[in-house]
Amino acid sequence: MSDTVPKPRPRPTPTSQPYWDALRDERIVVQRCRACDHWVHYPRSRCSKCLSDQLVFQVVDGAATVYTFTVARQATAPPFVDEVPQIITIVELAEGVRFTTNLVDVAPEDVRVGMRVQPVFDHGDDGMTLLRYRPA
Ligand SMILES: [Zn+2]
Repeated sequence: MSDTVPKPRPRPTPTSQPYWDALRDERIVVQRCRACDHWVHYPRSRCSKCLSDQLVFQVVDGAATVYTFTVARQATAPPFVDEVPQIITIVELAEGVRFTTNLVDVAPEDVRVGMRVQPVFDHGDDGMTLLRYRPA
């Protein structure tokens, strides 16, 4: 019997399914509002700026910069004991959207706000792909 706690996994909704499908294919899609051109992320049913429901997914290249970060040197929850130190980061895409992710393939002391990072597609055994980042 294993005493490891399973990691939480994404559960797509009808609204977010295109995002997860794209990640599985190693593409990043972000919603854009047809009414006001605002970029919207995470996936949702209404524009966060004008409340229009005319949102469409568009492919973006995913290049980003580190907006802010913290280093968790103790597991933030039991499923993550194997991931410390964990670099919890908010990145900003060129389109202006920001989201939380993890940085990988870098030492915590080498991370800087404003550093350029590129996507890493972390494919899970369950068919879900998580979007992480590494230095560009
Ligand atoms: Zn809008």
